[in-house]
Amino acid sequence: MRAQPKASHFIDGEYIEDAAGTPFESIYPATGEVIAKLHAATPAIVEKAIASAKRAQKEWAAMSPTARGRVLKRAAEIMRERNRELSELETLDTGKPIQETIIADPTSGADAFEFFGGIAAAGLNGDYIPLGQDFAFTKRVPLGVCVGIGAWNYPQQIACWKGAPALVCGNAMVFKPSENTPLGALKIAEILIEAGLPKGLYNVIQGDRSTGPLLVNHKDVAKVSLTGSVPTGKKVAGAAASDLKHVTMELGGKSPLIVFDDADLESAIGGAMLGNFYSTGQVCSNGTRVFVQKGIKDRFLSRLKERTEKIVIGDPLDEATQLGPMVSKAQRDKVLDYIEKGKAEGATLLTGGGIPNDVSAEGTYIQPTVFADVTDDMTIAREEIFGPVMCVLDFDHEDEVIERGNATEFGLSGGVFTSDITRAHRVVDQLEAGTLWINTYNLAPVEIPFGGSKQSGFGRENSLAALEHYSELKTVYVSMGKVEAPY
Ligand code: NAD
Repeated sequence: MRAQPKASHFIDGEYIEDAAGTPFESIYPATGEVIAKLHAATPAIVEKAIASAKRAQKEWAAMSPTARGRVLKRAAEIMRERNRELSELETLDTGKPIQETIIADPTSGADAFEFFGGIAAAGLNGDYIPLGQDFAFTKRVPLGVCVGIGAWNYPQQIACWKGAPALVCGNAMVFKPSENTPLGALKIAEILIEAGLPKGLYNVIQGDRSTGPLLVNHKDVAKVSLTGSVPTGKKVAGAAASDLKHVTMELGGKSPLIVFDDADLESAIGGAMLGNFYSTGQVCSNGTRVFVQKGIKDRFLSRLKERTEKIVIGDPLDEATQLGPMVSKAQRDKVLDYIEKGKAEGATLLTGGGIPNDVSAEGTYIQPTVFADVTDDMTIAREEIFGPVMCVLDFDHEDEVIERGNATEFGLSGGVFTSDITRAHRVVDQLEAGTLWINTYNLAPVEIPFGGSKQSGFGRENSLAALEHYSELKTVYVSMGKVEAPY
């Protein structure tokens, strides 16, 4: 098995197995090949991971932020040195083309370690608050043991986006990757130890939806950060709320991408394609409702069709491949069902809609698909598909499209393409979403906050904003005089 790790879990600085856990296989989605055999965590493994995190956290928190940051920056360097190896593993784990993973996955994880490592010395200061002769000061203190639970679309990135701010603030983390993509996070844990992270501070355990609650409900866990779907988010946030644990919820979306008549056509099409086909459409912030103003609809659709049909589908380890398989057969079948619903409900299938030829029959491939003439009430316009399926809707007026864009329970992201900069700002001001783009789509560098509103979640990852979600303020009032009591 070409990606078999030494053992299923990584706890207290080493790989560890517990064969009593439910066995499961890691499958390479391009061929159906079993690339690793693992076990889900038993309750004993969960206890061990949390106990080791709890033990290690106090000493780590007592170190200077600069010393903590140094470890993270070294981890970033190691990740960059091993970018190819990590990218190949990410490709095997997810099926995403190496053309993408080599620029977007370990590198984005390394950016998080570098950014949070770099701001450690200055970003964690408190305030001094003058109060006449008295004063107060605030300290930013860690929360304790944080749990990270990942989705399968960006396994290494998610492991780092949660791990880096948690660690820099002085917390320990127990991370559970998605059962579909168990491998990348183990490598991140290994690299952190090599970079000098004390043992126990970043533990990885395997498991699925039955393992997650063991972490979320654990009394020694102070915070849970989930990347996943809205239904899972509701369960996890509900369970965490019963103990008043801190939570960050990075959930799903059905984001509007609005293209006005005056947009640069090729850029708008490029943005819409990246925002629907990158990572085979398995991106939470995708602009899956593409609203195109009627004046450019025909030109937009004909160039979109032409460009989409040129997408190179194939072996994800071939650098020429632009579109890989879906992560699993279950996900592929779910997307095919949505395509059938789109056809049945009257959308026009512009291109795609099925399984491509010339790929491994065991691979979970799907054609990049575009539906035109989609209306707001269709299932494909309302529900998150999480596959390479773009829905194009028409609109006439700005006010109308803003209202329709907001008519969803989701609020993760949105975008606008127009050459009228005033209109661009007017539109993004009114779109109800956590992250918005003007004349581009889906760029999420570590310097900017990322996260959702409405049912797409709460809390922010990346940027200085993430520090607020992995620490809390302690306020100290200092009296310089005597206590004046009325009794
Ligand atoms: P999912 O909700 O099925 O699973 C996410 C994770 O939660 C997995 O690790 C799973 O094992 C775990 N889990 C499931 N039930 C649980 C429970 N009751 N308690 C604790 N843990 C539980 O999501 P997925 O299918 O892996 O990922 C796709 C979803 O993730 C999409 O909706 C997508 O939009 C979303 N997503 C959001 C972001 C973001 O940053 N907003 C990023 C990537 C993916």
